[in-house]
Amino acid sequence: MRAKKKLAPRARGAVHGPGGPASGKLKPAIPPPARIRCPVSKTRPFSERCAERMGWIGTETAFDVLAKAKALEAQGRSIVHLEIGEPDFDTPENIREAAKRALDQNWTHYVPAPGIPELRHVIATEVARTRNIPVDPRQVVVTPGGKPIMSFLIMTLCNPGDEIIYPNPGFPIYESMIRFMGGKAVPLPLREENDFRVDVDELKGLITKKTKLLIINSPHNPTGSVLTHEDLKGIAALAVKHDLIVLADEIYSRIIYDVPFESITQFPGMLERTVILDGFSKTYAMTGWRVGYGVMPVELAQHIIRLMININSCTSAFSQRACIEAIVGPQEDAHKMVAEFKRRRDIFVEGLCGIKGLSCYKPQGAFYVMPSVEGTGRSCQDIADRLLNEAGVAALSGTCFGEYGAGYVRFSYANSVENLQEALRRIERMLGRGRSCRL
Ligand code: PMP
Repeated sequence: MRAKKKLAPRARGAVHGPGGPASGKLKPAIPPPARIRCPVSKTRPFSERCAERMGWIGTETAFDVLAKAKALEAQGRSIVHLEIGEPDFDTPENIREAAKRALDQNWTHYVPAPGIPELRHVIATEVARTRNIPVDPRQVVVTPGGKPIMSFLIMTLCNPGDEIIYPNPGFPIYESMIRFMGGKAVPLPLREENDFRVDVDELKGLITKKTKLLIINSPHNPTGSVLTHEDLKGIAALAVKHDLIVLADEIYSRIIYDVPFESITQFPGMLERTVILDGFSKTYAMTGWRVGYGVMPVELAQHIIRLMININSCTSAFSQRACIEAIVGPQEDAHKMVAEFKRRRDIFVEGLCGIKGLSCYKPQGAFYVMPSVEGTGRSCQDIADRLLNEAGVAALSGTCFGEYGAGYVRFSYANSVENLQEALRRIERMLGRGRSCRL
């Protein structure tokens, strides 16, 4: 990266997209669509027509809270956005330039379903280097974001009644997709007293003959916890003993602060039973480009590729070309983002610790913090609602991440220090000063 290129954080809460604050230009106004009166249905409502499984699928509440926060902003309210989980930086310039070149070179057509061979190759090399494992490009399946890897894997493995163990609190889509596929979602509690890490003994007690898949996520959304070498070793031993497939969601592998990243794939017997989920959204601030990938045994990849063909055909061709540049190009911007997230974590966590009723675990990775709100005497949903409606701070109730998130609120600190400080002032005004943190 050339020295003159600056790392440009996006103004949270303002317009996203071309002509947004980062570019400094304003887009010509597009007239709002004319209001069309929807015909009143005289037939059966869709709720009655939907397949039964539509009653089992969940959602990601962050998008609902974002919509509510935007509605309040439209009424003139000022909101600090700490709900949505995406870097507030612009995609580094070298990556954007690579996409522009790709468009000019007509990378605008279908490409192979598992990904452009050159991208699969550089991903294999990168995953091999960062996890210290052998990876063949045929093991790599590129998907529109990392998210489809979860759904595709669950679709591939899960028969009705099969049990899948998943972290709780955890990324809500795991539970949603397990239920959608008719599986039994078995929560693996992550408790604050255990630094929100997996308790290997507790995990042992959850495994049955019906357990097909175990999902782990480190660094973790929503708590920012990181599994230790010993945790991973213990989990790997159980996976081998009980012949489980492991989905290792490593999407935050590069956003880690105090400890080195470790993958479960390093342990004996794990290469043939692990699916690594990773991608470009978080590491390179590319959430809107929709490129992620899974790394898995070649035989399993064949099934996931069939799902890709059925559902997506392929991942956006010019986005994939830009992702090659993301991996092989300069990494300074990605490193600077992590350094800035760390600085923000320190400021925000310290600030939360000075607020009455909040007690905070110090996250070691990702860009989330999930303080306990038990000391306020109110429920986490009530606190999240009041934060939004009274204080003007958008955050998520811990229960958005499962029942073991009760008693907590999740903040994303992927926002400017200025906005984080403003959020702290607003939260303090609502709850008062006082220290109950164990930090
Ligand atoms: N895993 C986790 C734990 C996440 O938090 C996210 C995004 N919030 C994803 C996977 C998916 O990211 P994407 O589809 O944008 O690559």
